[in-house]
Order: sequence, then structure tokens, then C-alpha cells
Amino acid sequence: MQLRQIELFALRMRLRHPFETSFGREEDREFLLVRADAGDHVGWGEVTVSRDPFYCYETVETAESVLRNYLIPWTLSAPLAHPDDLAARLHQVRGHQMAKAGLEGALWDLYAKEQGIPLYQALGGERREIEVGISIGIEPTVDLLLAQVERFLGDGYRRIKIKIKPGKDYVPLRAVRDRFGDIPMMADANSAYSLSDIGLLQQLDELGLMMIEQPLSYEDIIDHATLAPQLKTPICLDECIHSPEDARKAIEIGAAGVLNIKIGRLGGLSASRKTHDIAQAAGIPVWCGGMLESGVGRLHNVAITTLGGFTLPGDTAASSRYWEEDIIDPEVEVTPHGTIVVPQGPGIGHAVREDMVRRLAHGHWTYRA
Ligand SMILES: [Mg+2]
Repeated sequence: MQLRQIELFALRMRLRHPFETSFGREEDREFLLVRADAGDHVGWGEVTVSRDPFYCYETVETAESVLRNYLIPWTLSAPLAHPDDLAARLHQVRGHQMAKAGLEGALWDLYAKEQGIPLYQALGGERREIEVGISIGIEPTVDLLLAQVERFLGDGYRRIKIKIKPGKDYVPLRAVRDRFGDIPMMADANSAYSLSDIGLLQQLDELGLMMIEQPLSYEDIIDHATLAPQLKTPICLDECIHSPEDARKAIEIGAAGVLNIKIGRLGGLSASRKTHDIAQAAGIPVWCGGMLESGVGRLHNVAITTLGGFTLPGDTAASSRYWEEDIIDPEVEVTPHGTIVVPQGPGIGHAVREDMVRRLAHGHWTYRA
């Protein structure tokens, strides 16, 4: 790949509905887009950071800084044969996985377009259609939660994930179970509990959840291994897994029965694929988590989900779940039977609406090779 220039865009997009988790409420989504230009082809990647350092330490500002001062200049310093080679070049920068992932994602899209193949094929995926679920934030009342669940089941989503926090856990989940019966349902705690809450977490066992996601600290792996044998509900790890190595260690000590793969958190598609391979070899199912992505990040999620070990529906909903108008054409749509048909065009497979990106951008930087 012979890059001519890389552009960075800072965007702010209004969510259709505010989204609340155990660490806060988002009404606008702020993130960065990367455009990698090689002359004949252009690739797009999304930096799935947020404005605030609540899900992880990275923010729009930290990602912008590290991309502009290190990652983009180093990427442009010499040609790259393959996107898999980028991580080694950026290795000296510790952490900043989301910043790295957005840049690497643009190179993956570009690489697939240069090869004339869809991104999912470049990654070695095979599925033509992926099963998808929905993630529902913490609703102010049980009635509002039930209305949301009813709506998304009607839309065909294959799995309902509900965000929980202390005081908003057993009661709302029980209400959903009672109303909708044996639907595939899981809970995401976003690190809101500790080992002293074990009685409460055991109470959730009677709800027959598919899994509980990241009940304990965002930095912990060890305590999750202590908790796992005391629960019937499988534990899925999200926040504390930043690399394929973290995944290997978590699996080895029995901390994870399931893994949530987020491309941004893991530092890119190459690391996500490695993490998938490690989990698959160990018989641990994986699914693709979401960060309220725009269409660009959403299509990267669709592509990685085509790998064989993604046996559980992920968070990759339709564009219209989050946006009045997405920045891709066509938008990502979910079929009435809860699937997304994988695009077969080169790269991410849908056009990026560059006019809209440039109009929405409140920051724009260009770097030439
Ligand atoms: Mg999560």
C-alpha cells in the first residue's frame, strides 16, 4: 500500500435516543474518522472513542493527539505491505488501542479495495449473513424498558442485552423475563459491581441469562476467575481485555466463559482476529460488541463478525437504531429475521458520504506522505 495522505475528521452526531449505561448518559456521539488515500483507492476507519474517559481512558482529545503526533506520521513514514504490519510499526506507543484501531481500520478497508475484495473476505470470514442483537441502555422506568424490549423483538433482533447497575438490575430483568418469557437475554454491568455483591449476582442466576458482561472492575481479570465458579450464569469479559494476550490469560485462569470482541478496545482488526482465533481454539464463543458506531465502524463490525467463532449475536444493530441519518450509503439495515446481510462490494462495501462527513466535521487535519 502506497499512501498519499491521511485525513483525520472530528465529528459530533446527535443520537436518536440518549443512551445510558452504569457510567453515564450520552446524547451526542463524538468520535474521529480516518481517511487513508492511496490515489486509486480510499479507505475509511472509525476511532470509537467517546468525549469522556468513562468506558476507558481514551477520549476524542487523547486519540486526536496521539494520532497527529505519532501514529499518522509513523504510518506515512514508509510503505506497508499489509495492514497486519501496522501494529509492529506503532508498537512503541503504549496503549491507545482505539486510536490505533481507527487508523488500522482505514488501512484494512483500503487494502481490501486494492485487492478488489470485500473486507470480510480479506479477514478470512465466510458468513454471508450475521445474526444481530440489540443493546438497551438503563431506562428510567420498568415500563419504558418493557416498551423498548417489545419494540426491538418486533424488529426481529435475535438477542436482547440490557444494561444494569446496582439498584437497576434484578427487578427490571425479572420484569422482562416475566413479560416476554424465554427470549435470549443478557445483562451488561460495565464494571458496576464488586466481589462483595456476590449474593446479588447469584440472584440473577435464576433469570437464565445467556451471560453477564463485565460485572467486576474494568482492570480486573483475577476476581472474575474467583466469581465465575460461584455463578451459573457465564461471565463475558469486555472492558478488561485489551489484547489477544489478555484474552489468553483470562481464558487460562477461567475468568471468561464468553468474550466480547470490540475492534477499538483490542487495537484493531488484526488483533481482533487473533483474539477470535485464541478463543476459538479454547472453545470460548465470541461476539462483536458495539460503541455506538457510525456506519463506518458498524461495517467494520459486520466484517469481523463473519469469522467462524462469532457464534453469538452481537451489538451491531441497524444504522437507524442510533441515527436519523448515517454517513454511509446505503445505511446498515437489519432483516425482519434479525440478521444483517454482509455487503459484497470491495472493502467495507458501502459508500461513505464524504460531503456529509466534511459538513459535520468540526475538526479536520491532513497529512501527506
Ligand atoms: Mg460491555
